Amino acid sequence: KRVRVLVSACLLGDPVRYDGATKGLADHRIGLWQQRGWLLGSCPEVSGGLSVPRPPAELRQGKVITAAGEDVSLAFYRGAETALALVQRYDLKFALLKANSPSCGNERVYNGRFEGKLVTGEGVTASLLRQHGVQVFNENQLDELEQVLAAEG
Ligand code: SF4
Repeated sequence: KRVRVLVSACLLGDPVRYDGATKGLADHRIGLWQQRGWLLGSCPEVSGGLSVPRPPAELRQGKVITAAGEDVSLAFYRGAETALALVQRYDLKFALLKANSPSCGNERVYNGRFEGKLVTGEGVTASLLRQHGVQVFNENQLDELEQVLAAEG
């Protein structure tokens, strides 16, 4: 068995989200890949030192700020570093990260004004991993992830 994909822990059903809710993916491939030992779950925000629950935060000009205006960038960047350390330890080429999160989002993030509006952008963990050559997919891109895993063999 070898680990192949770093996965947002919340997608595996761990109650690590800011609001304590679970968002486990129901797709059958997740169970299959888990059985094969391919998935390594991790929550960068929790590894970065934040608790559950925690105030929601959004990206604003490279910083991560809560609705109350607290700058929580340090924990978010620390969390991204822990994710990178895992990727490097297991030599992972792929990550499956939760869409739209200020840590894990790979295509879109909220606009920083807590208006519920998404804009093009990446979360801090998704960005750091991509910069280190990891292909990052979100939960709506399982078909694409399946393809690259099959191609790698
Ligand atoms: Fe899920 Fe990522 Fe948010 Fe953790 S930081 S709860 S893994 S989306």
